[in-house]
Amino acid sequence: MTQGRSRETYPGFMTSPHALNLPPVADLLDTVRVVGLPMRVKFRGITVRETAIFHGPAGWGEFGPFPEYGDAEAAQWLRAGIEAAWQGFPDPVRSSIPVNATVPAVPADRVADVLAGYGGAVPAVKIKVAERGQSLADDVARVAAVRDLLPGAELRVDANMGWDEEQAVAALTELAAFDLEYAEQPVATIEGLAAVRQRLRDKSIDLKIAADESVRKAEDPLAVARAGAADLIIVKVAPLGGVRRALELVRDAGLPAVVSSAIDSSVGIRAGVALAAALPELPYACGLGTLSLMAADVTRKSLKPQEGHIPVRDAAVDQDLLAEFAVTGERRDWWLDRIRRTHAVLAG
Ligand SMILES: [Mg+2]
Repeated sequence: MTQGRSRETYPGFMTSPHALNLPPVADLLDTVRVVGLPMRVKFRGITVRETAIFHGPAGWGEFGPFPEYGDAEAAQWLRAGIEAAWQGFPDPVRSSIPVNATVPAVPADRVADVLAGYGGAVPAVKIKVAERGQSLADDVARVAAVRDLLPGAELRVDANMGWDEEQAVAALTELAAFDLEYAEQPVATIEGLAAVRQRLRDKSIDLKIAADESVRKAEDPLAVARAGAADLIIVKVAPLGGVRRALELVRDAGLPAVVSSAIDSSVGIRAGVALAAALPELPYACGLGTLSLMAADVTRKSLKPQEGHIPVRDAAVDQDLLAEFAVTGERRDWWLDRIRRTHAVLAG
């Protein structure tokens, strides 16, 4: 781990990262709006993304943990939403965030179509690999197709823990020929990441390893850094409990970070943009382009990438859109109850 950077280097830490006054739950329930936003493509088996937003003195915050998450995990998402609405964000050090395009596990002959959907300049592309039921040849063909179409772009692959150690070393040895900037979570465990990273180095293969699931789902998100298991980390605001906590994690890890999003509305994306804007260094394009997967939003001016970048600005929430996509009845009650339960977790 890199030590010795002073706190002054990190503008987000001028205020204590853990100081967050919890507003009474009644204040959250007062302004909460539950929406169901239709998606352009099916993701995690859903076609409508339900999420809740509320506002406080500093603006809007989002609370959209996926339905299967338990209360303890979901409470971090509530904490992040409360930070946005009651505390606001740290001062930005940049005004525009580069974001990557994403190529899912499609056949190579469909890559051009997928990339056409992003239009304009794309600084970086994340390519899904190690999909269940597919072969290394499928991955190689897909990555080659992207490289052919975008010779100057930064390319990264994401295996989502899909390989074992032997498969990962074999696959990344082959894929490294396409000049990748990094490989995300090739295997499931921290020990496995460390082993793959070392074995690639032993073979003089220059390919960085990024940890995503090993940071997001770990009891101890710093374990990756301590184990020397990755060259960089993927961070998301909501699972880490807010922008300031994420800044603190990145500082403590001493590794470069790529800010990524869940399938959020522009309110949640705004928090990811705030984190990316406040990081002292941002060497890689971020994974904040997920609004491209949505067919609707809570604002008329979505925080979608334009020419591969998202500007650092607030999203003006539109009351008509909140009404149009409002979730009512039992589903709304379920979300309100979830806010009460997760608020109780934070209240301790
Ligand atoms: Mg990932």
